[in-house]
Amino acid sequence: MAPFLSQDTTLIVGAGFAGSVVARELAEAGRKVHVIDKRPHIAGNAYDETDAHGILIHRYGPHIFHTNGQRIFEYLSRFTAWRPYEHRVRGVVDGVRYPFPINRDTLNQLYGLDLDEAGAEAYYEQVRIPVEEVRTSEDVVLNSVGRDLYEKFFLNYTRKQWGMDPSELKAGVAARIPVRTNSDDRYFTDTFQAMPADGYTAMFQNLLDHPNITVELGIDYFEVRQSMQPAHTVYTGPIDAFFDYRFGHLPYRSLRFEHDHLPDVDQYQETGTINYPNDHAFTRITEFKHLTGQVHAGTSIVREYPEAAGDPYYPVPSTENEALFKRYEALTRERTDVTFVGRLAQYRYYNMDQVVGAALAAARTILGG
Ligand code: FAD
Repeated sequence: MAPFLSQDTTLIVGAGFAGSVVARELAEAGRKVHVIDKRPHIAGNAYDETDAHGILIHRYGPHIFHTNGQRIFEYLSRFTAWRPYEHRVRGVVDGVRYPFPINRDTLNQLYGLDLDEAGAEAYYEQVRIPVEEVRTSEDVVLNSVGRDLYEKFFLNYTRKQWGMDPSELKAGVAARIPVRTNSDDRYFTDTFQAMPADGYTAMFQNLLDHPNITVELGIDYFEVRQSMQPAHTVYTGPIDAFFDYRFGHLPYRSLRFEHDHLPDVDQYQETGTINYPNDHAFTRITEFKHLTGQVHAGTSIVREYPEAAGDPYYPVPSTENEALFKRYEALTRERTDVTFVGRLAQYRYYNMDQVVGAALAAARTILGG
């Protein structure tokens, strides 16, 4: 049944970071807000829950919070305490685990070298294949580390992850991954790296806990939109769906998550995530106890299998898809009654902190600031 909305209420579609942060900001400014989500839970893709064995897991894959934005970190700190956590990843090549992103130790272990920082820099310089105009992900990697490291760590991982060759993917995809000359083996180098002490879902409960906010779960906007006349709508779902796919579907890469519990195994792997670029149909395995610091006699892991169809997770970054998104984006300008924000509405790979930033900005605009 469609929720009854009084005409002074703002409807928010989606209880992920985008929707929940806008909801909180509007509520604190005195607006009445009604949040709906088609899933049976809040927190969007950041949702975490205790599995059947008592271990806190992330249903939609590992979410590690990191940001350079002090303002964003302080904002979320109103709703959670934090557990300091620096994520580390290893990449398996020919059965051996190497630090990833590639750093000086990766080179030394892989090639039996003893390079210092200057030596590592000289090594990259020697093996890189200069590309005059860097356009694709293949160009980015060849240009910085050359063919052997490209083939060992990037080529097959990218093929699995995207179902496309790195030569078909825009440069921005690979440019996200650094290459280091020092021994820093942290996956991220942001100033703030931490996990919500009681988990993401608990943080979202606090975000949404305000007398001006009501939340209704298991409601699909498209089944109720005809019957509601909110003061304003904040839409955080897929933009193509909002406009009835009139220009066609925006392509997404999906994932299947295979969760597994290993009783009586204290630790399954030495780092939070291990990448398998060249073996198996999955890309990586994450062990949640590293992320959460939970103490338990057993352990829970997740394997990620990239898929073409399924829930929309990663916008596929190509010039063609961006042009299609622009056509939808142009339609949003005619809809002053709706604010579009978040990774699905903006068809952009956003980290959580970026979504919080975008949501705070959207709320300011709605409030006329
Ligand atoms: P979402 O979290 O997707 O929320 C949108 C909500 O809208 C969903 O709950 C959906 O059910 C709801 N919705 C959609 N359509 C409708 C409808 N018709 N009716 C009602 N409700 C609807 N970021 C990081 O910073 N660090 C990480 O380590 C990290 N890891 C990630 C790992 C994976 C596997 C993935 C896929 C993403 C990861 N991210 C990470 C990105 C992070 O998930 C996003 O930045 C964040 O979830 C985006 O929030 P959002 O509110 O825009 O979207």
